[in-house]
Amino acid sequence: MATCVPRKSARLEAQDEDGELEGTGGKAERDRTFWFQDGTIVVLAGNIEFKVYAGPLIEHSPVFQDMFSLPQAGADVSTADRVRPTVHLSDSPCDLRYLFELMMPSKTLRPFGSPVVNHDKLAAWIRMGHKYQIDVLVQEPLDRLRAHFPNNFDTYVASLKRQYKQKYSIGVVNLARLTDARDLLPVALMSCCQIQSGLTQGFQRIDGTWEQLSPGDLELCFNAKERLIQTRVQFANRLLGSGAAPECHSKEVCTRFMQAYLQRLTSGVIPGLRTPTPLSPWGSNINAIWRLCETCRKALTDDSNNYQREIFARLPTIMGVDVEGWGEA
Ligand SMILES: [Zn+2]
Repeated sequence: MATCVPRKSARLEAQDEDGELEGTGGKAERDRTFWFQDGTIVVLAGNIEFKVYAGPLIEHSPVFQDMFSLPQAGADVSTADRVRPTVHLSDSPCDLRYLFELMMPSKTLRPFGSPVVNHDKLAAWIRMGHKYQIDVLVQEPLDRLRAHFPNNFDTYVASLKRQYKQKYSIGVVNLARLTDARDLLPVALMSCCQIQSGLTQGFQRIDGTWEQLSPGDLELCFNAKERLIQTRVQFANRLLGSGAAPECHSKEVCTRFMQAYLQRLTSGVIPGLRTPTPLSPWGSNINAIWRLCETCRKALTDDSNNYQREIFARLPTIMGVDVEGWGEA
């Protein structure tokens, strides 16, 4: 597996007609998928060489357009249009593969559309789209992420049915920072706070490099974690501490069972109250108070939804980030 060290900007770093680049010792390996015999550009990233078509890259990216129209030192003018010299890019070969997968012809027919889009692919598209100014490659993947890390409560509740691996929220925070998509930050940072171990270490990308939070975002998480726990404890006290619903016909019994359940939660007999998850569903807790009348059960369900909606509205403050337009659908 190739390892790649991501760097910051697109550069035409080195070139010569044989593709033997300084520092590679000529040991570059041809990519198995993206090596088209009649390709018009050879791209070297890490130690992987790709031979692809320049046309689609120039068509969709002003950065590639500028890069490929630079005078090619040492190139034979008569052949320059057919086969350009090797271009050395500082990207991860894996990110480039995901880009080429979208923009180059496929060697295998795909009659049923694209394969599953996973986090690695979404993240690569956003990084590539941002760097090479291909807007659609940034905006559409960001919109997919917004379905999992939304800025309004109803979408958030719906998102709980669609699992997104928690460790990837670290990558989502970094993508939000890269593209200034701040609306992703509150839910993604909260999700980072819920990672049980390995938050500082991060996770390993498919290319072997590590995705980690910046020191600033790590500090935000450490500071916010206690606030998330306090918010959950306050939520439980507010929900169960107010007693039976006004319409309840057995107020004494319902209130007693609510308070007993709250007492077992706060004393730790029932574990899990002091966790940084103020927005996790409470249905199973409410169902566990088995002596409640139906009126109180419904009132608790409605109240928990309303109280969590209020918490969601305060989420940027709890997480320590400013987000314009937070809570608007
Ligand atoms: Zn009741």
